[in-house]
Amino acid sequence: MAIELITKDNEDNEDIPKSLVFLSARRLPHGGVLYELDSTESALWFNNPANKSKFLEHFGVEVVIKDRAFHVLIENVPISFIPDNHAAIDDVEKKAGLKPKSICKARYIKPVARCNPGQRTAHVIFTFSTKEGANHAIKFGLAVAGKKVYGRKLIQEPTRCLKCHSFNSAHVAVECPQEHDTCGTCGGQHRTAACTVTDQSKYHCKNCEVEGHAAWSRDCPTFTNKWESYKNRNEDAKYRFFLTDDPLTWETINDPSRSGDEDVNQDHRQQPCPQHQQRFPPPVD
Ligand SMILES: [Zn+2]
Ligand SMILES: [Zn+2]
Ligand SMILES: [Zn+2]
Repeated sequence: MAIELITKDNEDNEDIPKSLVFLSARRLPHGGVLYELDSTESALWFNNPANKSKFLEHFGVEVVIKDRAFHVLIENVPISFIPDNHAAIDDVEKKAGLKPKSICKARYIKPVARCNPGQRTAHVIFTFSTKEGANHAIKFGLAVAGKKVYGRKLIQEPTRCLKCHSFNSAHVAVECPQEHDTCGTCGGQHRTAACTVTDQSKYHCKNCEVEGHAAWSRDCPTFTNKWESYKNRNEDAKYRFFLTDDPLTWETINDPSRSGDEDVNQDHRQQPCPQHQQRFPPPVD
């Protein structure tokens, strides 16, 4: 059902849509609501910060608007790349032939300070403001800090509560019914960030109730089972690109007709590489 918001104040202004039509509203696992607007014109209207705050006046103070973002995991980026440096981001956009501001932000998966000594590259999540920009990076890679690097669409993963580590009830830490914190590394009663255990053989996964891996490990059998069934249910996970009207983006991940024109890293694109998965850090809670 379409929801219509009439922007009466703007009746005299030709540049502003007379009404914004929301085609759909979907509740997200973390409590947000994803609104789909009827037209590019409406979306552009929303991009103006003044219009955003005008819209928010109708809601409580707790409400914020987050732009839709499209995440691409780019592998093996030279650690000389500084994601907070706007000039570095501009340079990546320019070299890729992307429009300015196509990349909203970039961040290392793991803080560079925690990299192993001698490590020269690390994985970076680039966040794009449009599907087209993100798809361009997936198809052609990016030139970052003097190196051509490739990656893949980052799809949302099953939600794990950072307090009790359950995947089952789709709650987040603030809504967790458990009173104490459970450590995602050793399973003890403290926050994961406060854990002092470094010996992997002493890790204890609360979900599997076994030693040897952490609850945040991407090799955790509970996680991998959840992830597989999630991917089977989630249409988006079947496609290599973010879907648009362009049929070239409809290529499925196991499509044998794929062009294979760009890159050597095929295996990594077919599915997350287990070796790289191990290096994912525990989420900060
Ligand atoms: Zn919980
Ligand atoms: Zn611990
Ligand atoms: Zn486990």
